[in-house]
Amino acid sequence: MAKLIALLAALVVAAGVAWSVAGRAPGPKISFIEPTGHIGQTGELHLSVAAPGAKLSRLEVVLEQAGKQLALFDLDNFGGARVAQDNDRVQISRAIGKKALSQLEEGQVRVRVMAARPLLFGLRQAEATASREINVVLTPPRLSVESKFHFINRGGSEMVVYRVSPQDAVSGVRVGDQEYPGYPAAGAHVSRADPGLRVAFFALLWNQSVDTPIELYAHDDVGNEARAAFDYRVFPKTFRDSRIVLDDRFLARVVPSILQKSAELTLENPSDFVGSFLRINSDLRHANNETIRKLARASAPKMLWDGPFKQLVNTAVEGGFADQRTYVYQGEVVDHQVHLGFDLASVTNASVQAANHGRIAYAGWLGIYGNCVIVDHGMGLQSLYAHLSSIAVRAGAPVSLGQVLGYTGATGLAGGDHLHFTMLLGGNPVTPVDWWSGKWVQDRIARKLHEASQEPRDTLAWETSERVYQLSQRDPPWRQLTQNP
Ligand SMILES: [Zn+2]
Repeated sequence: MAKLIALLAALVVAAGVAWSVAGRAPGPKISFIEPTGHIGQTGELHLSVAAPGAKLSRLEVVLEQAGKQLALFDLDNFGGARVAQDNDRVQISRAIGKKALSQLEEGQVRVRVMAARPLLFGLRQAEATASREINVVLTPPRLSVESKFHFINRGGSEMVVYRVSPQDAVSGVRVGDQEYPGYPAAGAHVSRADPGLRVAFFALLWNQSVDTPIELYAHDDVGNEARAAFDYRVFPKTFRDSRIVLDDRFLARVVPSILQKSAELTLENPSDFVGSFLRINSDLRHANNETIRKLARASAPKMLWDGPFKQLVNTAVEGGFADQRTYVYQGEVVDHQVHLGFDLASVTNASVQAANHGRIAYAGWLGIYGNCVIVDHGMGLQSLYAHLSSIAVRAGAPVSLGQVLGYTGATGLAGGDHLHFTMLLGGNPVTPVDWWSGKWVQDRIARKLHEASQEPRDTLAWETSERVYQLSQRDPPWRQLTQNP
């Protein structure tokens, strides 16, 4: 009897010891991985909870704000969270921005995590809690327009000066579905010391309607967005129609030489010159234009150029910007394309000079453009020189206005020796006519940059600026040149 009592007592002591040891066992290990900073319209909560075998008897995540509690997760209700297990670790992630939690308000919130793991066959729990303070920012960035009088020709360019705050917000001009980034104004020689001041060059593309909405945009890293209107006027432009007659001699010259250098274009029957030409004129043209658009993203964040751009000397204009070209073969219409540049003809192998200062963004073969040079002028503005017989520069090198880039030729999709030239904004072709005009550069750009350098004031009357604009829109002399059919 005494033995039995002693045994029972020993068991009770052993159970007590086990119970008490289990009580000191550590709970699951909770780690916050995200967010690392503040949250806003968007934000992600990412937790890692570790326990032997990832066995958890409780896991609850709540968000507390101003005395209110919001359930984010528990083992019975995942609340839309993504859960993944990796050995002893459970990873939980879910959206916790305002878009996911409509009750969220600006200010501090606390995310609290309560976890437990079972011990002694579930008789006891080892618990752990953790919490983190997170700042919720829901105030959108602020935008204000600094420049006055914005006039855009369809197919042409414009520039706006504006302020954005906070300074690290991403901002620019949105024209329909196109976005043009703003760059710190210090990079455009604006002397006013204001780190929120931005300059954005933008365009209304030849194929965008005259009522395409144009506005400033800004967004921060947690999804708060702002939009702001600014005054502008759009001027419609009509583009000319032209006919290009394709003959066998032309096709036999251009098609095989382009195919030879365009491994990306796979054709079933390369000896069908008309069919191959159509693929080159559409598919290869499209791929080449994608390459050009990618180059724009690496544009320098400052203006590398100065003053009006220079048209190639002694050239006659043989094809205009956004000419609607109809291609005819043996009396039948076989294709339509838009010619996004100017064809400038001079003498065979004429030297081609940089239209302004910049840096070589591209120098090499580019499909329909043949041997091609693209000069980056900064802030998204670039110039393109195509069909060269030879190239005299290397990518990455700085160039100055007038520097020889290469020599004219008929490489790529070219009917004869000429320079195909265009200006590009954000990788999209825009008419060079604006940039060739000293008056346009002065009134549309230099004036605004000068005004932005001063403290804000109100001097120019609308009428004055509009008159300057209309003067600058008179046909430049080359318009009077006869057009090649
Ligand atoms: Zn051309």
